[in-house]
Amino acid sequence: PRLTRADLDALPTYVPGRSPADLARELGLTEAIKLASNEVPYGPLPGVAEAVAEAVAGSHRYPDMGVLALRDALAERYGVTPDRIATGCGSVALCEHLVRATCLPGDEIVYSWRSFEAYPIIAATSGVTSVQVPNTAAHGHDLTAMANAVTEHTRLILVCNPNNPTGTSLRRAELDRFLDSVPQDVLVVLDEAYREFVTDPDVPDGLAVYGDRPNVVVLRTLSKAWGLAGLRIGFLVGQPEVAATVRKVVTPFSASSAAQAGALAALGQEEEVRRRCALVVGERARLTEAIRKLVPDVPESQANFVWLPLGDRAVEFAKACEARGVIVRPFAGDGVRVTVGTPAENDAFLAVAETAL
Ligand code: PMP
Repeated sequence: PRLTRADLDALPTYVPGRSPADLARELGLTEAIKLASNEVPYGPLPGVAEAVAEAVAGSHRYPDMGVLALRDALAERYGVTPDRIATGCGSVALCEHLVRATCLPGDEIVYSWRSFEAYPIIAATSGVTSVQVPNTAAHGHDLTAMANAVTEHTRLILVCNPNNPTGTSLRRAELDRFLDSVPQDVLVVLDEAYREFVTDPDVPDGLAVYGDRPNVVVLRTLSKAWGLAGLRIGFLVGQPEVAATVRKVVTPFSASSAAQAGALAALGQEEEVRRRCALVVGERARLTEAIRKLVPDVPESQANFVWLPLGDRAVEFAKACEARGVIVRPFAGDGVRVTVGTPAENDAFLAVAETAL
């Protein structure tokens, strides 16, 4: 007999970036380079490993289920009260919790496509209908079309700014207009996983600019700029009722003691985070300029990755890079996303790209 849902058979599996150690072994190289998962290419921030080790020493006990110390620290850092914060096992878990907190089966969520690949998977597994609004020709969100896609069944709108995987971003005036135009009983999630890499002053900080709008939730992560991808902490800031509902649907104890301790230690290292982000931003500019000589129509990125709109050549290009020891992320028929690495890693990628193209 069939024991699981038949509709899930057709669902694509979330594809993580390939392990560089595996690839290096396969190719007989001393090391391979991974520019596929939008991680920051430096080690954990100072003090994080020690804080995690200390937490592990007490790991026969359950973690603090309310995540109180971390929520207090986040609240202080971001200038809100702790009751407005919910944490999750990465912000990807919070996307799922937000769907659970807002939608019943059959309800609709609206998002731009292409965007973060977890959105359609979460929608499908949650039994809600994905309404995907095609990106503009410039690879960004079409906010007018997104607002027009809202129906009486829409409960949630996901706005990814900057957008993964295209790196495009939305400016203040268009976001203002959009937020004014959508029904105020629909929750709008501003997914700002890459906010710390934004340098364009016209791209609004969702927390600072829209944080007090009742139907807006801002989603952030410690996985990218804060260098904690392996510890899995994301957080959201919303109105107290929204945050409280999300805290109810979170899997109990999903923020481990190690993750909470590591996150607290990372939050104390903001200056170092800024320094690292500045390095990434500098390399982003260099990588973009160089790759534009090889690939036309590379959009300006405000994130820590660059989008190569290679269309049908995407998979072939990624395979050619991988065969030369550089892992990048292809999206079949559409493009390739390349994470900004260290200067040496970016040089290695550019050399490989020149040959592969
Ligand atoms: N949102 C966006 C736009 C992302 O690109 C990612 C990671 N790829 C996430 C959320 C989730 O990140 P995490 O679960 O590590 O916080």
